[in-house]
Amino acid sequence: MFFLPNAQPDVLDKKRFSFEIELEMNEKIPSPKTVLSYDLGSSFSLYSDVVSYFKSLSTSSGRVLYHEYGKTYEGRPLINLVISSEENIKNIDAIKHKHMQILQETESDQSHLKGQPIFTSFSYNIHGNEASSTEAAMQVAYRMAAAQDEETKEVLKNSIIIMYICINPDGRDRYVYWYKSMKRLKRPSMEPQDIEHMENWPGGRTNHYWFDINRDWVWQVHPEAKGLSHEYQKWLPQVHVDYHEQGYNNNYFTAPGTTPRNQLLPDSYERWSEVFGDANTVQFDKYQINYFTRDRFDFFYPGYGSSYPSVMGAIGMLTEQGGGSAGGRIVQTDDGFHLTLRQRIFDHYTTSIATIKTAVLHREKLLQYSKNALNPANSKSKIKAYFFSDRDVHSNDLVNVLIRNGIKLEQALNDFQISAALDYRSGRISKKVFSKGTYIVTTRQPKHLLINTIMERNLAIEDSVMYDMSTWSAPLAYNLNAYSTMDAFTVETKSIIQEINFKGLVINNEAQYAYVIDWSQRNAPQALAQLWAREYNVRSAFEPFIMGDKPFTAGSLIVLIGRNLHHKDRIDLEIKEIAQNAGVEIIGFNTGRVMTGMDLANGRNVPIKQPKVALLVEPPFSIYTAGQIYFYSIGKRVCQLIVLKLPHFSKVVLQNLEVL
Ligand SMILES: [Zn+2]
Repeated sequence: MFFLPNAQPDVLDKKRFSFEIELEMNEKIPSPKTVLSYDLGSSFSLYSDVVSYFKSLSTSSGRVLYHEYGKTYEGRPLINLVISSEENIKNIDAIKHKHMQILQETESDQSHLKGQPIFTSFSYNIHGNEASSTEAAMQVAYRMAAAQDEETKEVLKNSIIIMYICINPDGRDRYVYWYKSMKRLKRPSMEPQDIEHMENWPGGRTNHYWFDINRDWVWQVHPEAKGLSHEYQKWLPQVHVDYHEQGYNNNYFTAPGTTPRNQLLPDSYERWSEVFGDANTVQFDKYQINYFTRDRFDFFYPGYGSSYPSVMGAIGMLTEQGGGSAGGRIVQTDDGFHLTLRQRIFDHYTTSIATIKTAVLHREKLLQYSKNALNPANSKSKIKAYFFSDRDVHSNDLVNVLIRNGIKLEQALNDFQISAALDYRSGRISKKVFSKGTYIVTTRQPKHLLINTIMERNLAIEDSVMYDMSTWSAPLAYNLNAYSTMDAFTVETKSIIQEINFKGLVINNEAQYAYVIDWSQRNAPQALAQLWAREYNVRSAFEPFIMGDKPFTAGSLIVLIGRNLHHKDRIDLEIKEIAQNAGVEIIGFNTGRVMTGMDLANGRNVPIKQPKVALLVEPPFSIYTAGQIYFYSIGKRVCQLIVLKLPHFSKVVLQNLEVL
């Protein structure tokens, strides 16, 4: 612990971090300061104030479109801006339509690229407590909306800029509210150990359910990622940068990154990431901003904001500013430097502007890069198709991931045979007959990079030192019976174009003896939670059994009507509601006599009681592990949960709990 001098620190240093004051700005366009009433860097902005700024910017500028693409769990709007010349904005639908057409055409004639703007996009503040980038987004948008110089006009004429201004507003506001409550009002603390720099658990990095949205770009479990991917696919940019912060002792990271790399990407990806990285470092050299490249951050896992764009045909990149949740408005680094929020905003602003200009400089080549990347004829993978069963517990989960990512999916209308199919479970290649209903994903489609990256059994990797995520083969992750082939094949198919969400079903709704819910169903735990919530007596099958020709797994839920007579008048109605709400199949039986296996009311099919479950949180427990349990239990309504803070644990009467 050390104490720092008492002199009032200059948190703004407007002379050094001036955001291009030499530019002539249109006075009718509001700057961030005119709406927020403070200089950027003197405070963190609440999300509602950020939204107000972007709304006022779009109403006063013909260069800016404001669009909401979703809502967070806590009800905050998810917003992207589209910025271009006034003329382009007036014709944005036609430009976007032509853009998508050009990208998906496979011929190599480049003449139609002439005059077509490049699409450049940015995602800011996906980690809520890396809060400088949304502040920077306000200055970037203002500069592009208000600057009057010829260079800016030329840049706008030749580019469509899409800004996802804050991917994780719930996490951001959690951080900003905390910071404001701890903020020294007279003089900021620069001491890193001070409470002004020590954010509370769980911090603002994650979303409402403590999930890291920057691992969710492919799977889209949460609304922040689901809305983002849906919107992203409407624009398919050529260049995308994802904005982050790291510990305050680190200098700025910019492209290129380090190994391992996704080797399915076009070879020229690396060269392009150097071009954009160089554009940033040239600016940083000029302003004496310290930085590093080619270390620490790899882009192998496709669920990052830096790598998902790359498997969607863009040059996807990452930036990492030093600062993060401990940065405050000013903090002293390990070499005595005073790192300010103002600088963090300036640095992100500088790379955003450099990226926009560099993209325009290489407009046609980058459009051609995207075309080539999206053309399946250029795929480095020899795999022609992936197959997975339509009957596994998690089949629909993978179907929905593929559909959400705009991947064309088909289903076989007949049985068919593949002479050499790789079995995902055994790793062996052999002849295989697939049954009617099997799902088929062919790689002859524009999303082939994403398909191969998430579906391959063993994605090639050149070294094993990873930033974090290292494995995800989707068919294995979802525990599916899956195969791939390099052979051509023919089978009649139908297209699957919508997500599959089973709405629930009751067979023999007016049963006289019992209702049974097979435990192998995806949502059987939700059905059990609802039965308990309505105070049903439920039993669990001790072993598998067969009723009629229908097999049931061990653990299947048995609701004996004779043990639930308190529901008798409305049981058929309630069972139907439970099937629909949980999305399960419930089968009614008129007899308890089981032909193969134990009778339904056998004492070994024991009654199961709702357990009293508690989740212990706060340090040293992982936010993510707690988040998984919290989301599955509360978010998915699987079971009630008491969330206990660790300091209060000594006061908890453990006899009242069954699971901790
Ligand atoms: Zn981050």
